[in-house]
Amino acid sequence: MTRGSFPPPSRRFESVGFSEIVKVRNRVMELLEAGENVWRFEGGEPYMPTPQPIKDAMTRALQRNQTRYAPSSGIPELRTAIVAKVARRNGIPADKESPIVTNGGMHGLFAAFATLVDPGDEVLLFSPYWTPIVDVIAYDGGIPVRVPTAEARREGLYRTLERYATPRTRVLYWNSPTNPTGDVFSRPEVEEMSRFVFEHGLAVVSDEAYEDLIYEGEGHVSPASLPGMEDRTISVFTFSKTYSMTGWRAGYVIVPERYRQAMRTVVLYSINGVSTPTQWAAVEALSLSNEFPQTAREGYRRRRDRLVAGLRAAGFEVESPRAALYLFPKIPASLGGDSRRAARTLLDSARVATVPGLVFGPEGEGHLRFSFSVDEEMIAGGVEALAAFSGRELQAR
Ligand code: PMP
Repeated sequence: MTRGSFPPPSRRFESVGFSEIVKVRNRVMELLEAGENVWRFEGGEPYMPTPQPIKDAMTRALQRNQTRYAPSSGIPELRTAIVAKVARRNGIPADKESPIVTNGGMHGLFAAFATLVDPGDEVLLFSPYWTPIVDVIAYDGGIPVRVPTAEARREGLYRTLERYATPRTRVLYWNSPTNPTGDVFSRPEVEEMSRFVFEHGLAVVSDEAYEDLIYEGEGHVSPASLPGMEDRTISVFTFSKTYSMTGWRAGYVIVPERYRQAMRTVVLYSINGVSTPTQWAAVEALSLSNEFPQTAREGYRRRRDRLVAGLRAAGFEVESPRAALYLFPKIPASLGGDSRRAARTLLDSARVATVPGLVFGPEGEGHLRFSFSVDEEMIAGGVEALAAFSGRELQAR
């Protein structure tokens, strides 16, 4: 280094991107600041506020001065409640050392990949996928290997995974229910994936962020509930979606014994534990009845159905997803197949904000992602704007 010069950011950032969804949000913010009205479907947040008892629990923790350092892996009361929850709800065998409390699901995923991935290791993931995952894998020097979901479901998971695996494959990222498509893998599919990872000696990072947002049909199956899978699966959960707690930054992971020490180390040196009052609020969340998630689900289902009907009326071809918060329609022919351009056109000409499907991998190209977790007035207004836009398009042709 010469005098007065600066070292560049570390080389790992040459292969790590920064979520493109943020760019869409920035453009929406610009329009709003300019006084424009925007019909916003680009987000991914629960539409309801956090339940009052959870907020009260944090207030009580503050009043009791529960504001000091806690064990970096989580307060014992929360870890005990987590063990009971995953046994009851997910069928995952866990002991009191299995859970580690994390700063939301994002941090749980970051810590899981940091624990499992060495430079040059390959990680299988179904595509379309949740955008940040490829960057989190790349941060550790890992190589994300996309497995097209459509191909896997058509030809069988085992056969398809086998086609994409190499001797360098170490980990499989599993996300069911899935962002952005709202797909839910069936029990036979979970079993097939499990057989594959067992026979190939892989570990699984199972992202179960949307476990409570399934609206009909077969329920959620946690891979770690299958015999032997608890030894090779890091299960990642979050309070964000189930309890409308996105801003609290609280989640947890269930970790097999062989990976615990490494994972505790990552959590210690990245955050040294989640904020103590937040953890007390999380204890309260796990003690609530099912009433809140059930009411929230009814609201989600109604919003989904309205947006599906509205998009279809405006000329979109869209399947009604069983789960999560998103519709992932095909782009109508009049808008062309380029999802970035289509999203831009909709924003500029109809003031409707969506996320281009390409952001979720090349397998998402030709689609747009709409969140239906918005106010019902937003759905009504957005659908009207889209219908007016497609009316104009048709006249122009
Ligand atoms: N996994 C998936 C698939 C998600 O969509 C999200 C949030 N959008 C998360 C994990 C993480 O959420 P959080 O960090 O708020 O827990």
